[in-house]
Amino acid sequence: MIGYDHIMVRFGELSTKGKNKKDFIRLLAQNIKHALNEFSDLSIEERYDHIYVHLNGNDYEPIIARLQDVSGIQGLSLVAKVDNDIEAIKSASLELIEQEKGGTFKVKVKRSNKRFEMNSDQITRLVAPVILKNTKLKVDVHNPDILLQIEVRDEGTYIFVKTFMGAGGYPLGVGGKSMHMLSGGIDSPVAAYLLMRRGVIIECIHFASPPYTQEAVIYKLEDLLHKLNRYQPKIRLHIVPFTKIQEAIYDNAPESYCITLMRRMMYRLAAKLAKRRKCPVISSGESVGQVASQTLQSINVINEVTNLPVIRPCAVMDKLEIIKYAQKIDTYDISIRPYEDCCTIFTPKAPKTSPHLDEAIEFEKKFDYEPLIEEALNNIEVKFIE
Ligand code: ATP
Ligand code: MG
Repeated sequence: MIGYDHIMVRFGELSTKGKNKKDFIRLLAQNIKHALNEFSDLSIEERYDHIYVHLNGNDYEPIIARLQDVSGIQGLSLVAKVDNDIEAIKSASLELIEQEKGGTFKVKVKRSNKRFEMNSDQITRLVAPVILKNTKLKVDVHNPDILLQIEVRDEGTYIFVKTFMGAGGYPLGVGGKSMHMLSGGIDSPVAAYLLMRRGVIIECIHFASPPYTQEAVIYKLEDLLHKLNRYQPKIRLHIVPFTKIQEAIYDNAPESYCITLMRRMMYRLAAKLAKRRKCPVISSGESVGQVASQTLQSINVINEVTNLPVIRPCAVMDKLEIIKYAQKIDTYDISIRPYEDCCTIFTPKAPKTSPHLDEAIEFEKKFDYEPLIEEALNNIEVKFIE
């Protein structure tokens, strides 16, 4: 009896070719190995068009589920491999399709092995009648219940009917590294996930204001990052002591400008740390218009402190859309746990929705913040979440 012995990993149409494509595949294969290291006896085979995971007796379901989290994978198929022999192809096709539910089918053949004596069309015409004769299935070329795919390659013929969606995007690591601003809220973990899906590795920066904020926030961040470990196995978290800076702001600026100034300080710190850690960009979970500090005017005044590009993956998403993602990546329930953040503690009654740059700069002149920034940077606590 024929059984499924491989998973075929497809990366879809790559815009990259040549050496870049090779690097891409190597990185993806590495990430796949890492994602699957809890399973024993698997082997991974890299080829130019696909990566194959040899099941070696393992159950396929948990492996497919794990692979669906790996970015850079377009689709996955459970495949059986037979010799390049038409009789073997016919009998395996029949055996596999008999295990499926449905009333209609279609055969789709791809032949990349040009030495095989039949072309795709001829193979289809030989396989389909075997199925029609031995089952109750009927052909439907437009909308079949079962799509039987046959790929004749140099090393053998792959036959498959079970295909699964991948996460899409690019393999983690092809896109460089971002310094990601992580609060304990809903948006920033989603933004992190969206970046990872584009192949970007993240390091996280968090601003903590003890004793106003509690250690519980850090546990919350750890829990959030553990969820994100499914997409990036090891995440560096920088915890920046922010209390003195925040107190200085509240001692020197009117309440309505506190949030603006606080966020300018956050971006100054993030930019400095990004440069130190060789991250060419900063990222955050900001969403246009969500709160006073995220109006376009506020974003402009806040962003003025750095010339590093800031990527905001949630910028144009509705809260409900962001929540959908948070539920998909399983961070939502953690994010909604009540906690005190440095933003929630000092929230003024009427924050400025349209702050002015010259006023912000004027208030900042009232205290010497550079040494405070240096001190904060020198006292960062680093955690590795894996
Ligand atoms: P989230 O946006 O993650 O739901 P939030 O709504 O509490 O959390 P906002 O006040 O909307 O956060 O802040 C916007 C963004 O600024 C956050 O998404 C995050 O990227 C960054 N940010 C806010 N507070 C902090 C913090 N204490 N440490 C690090 N980054 C922060
Ligand atoms: Mg937010």
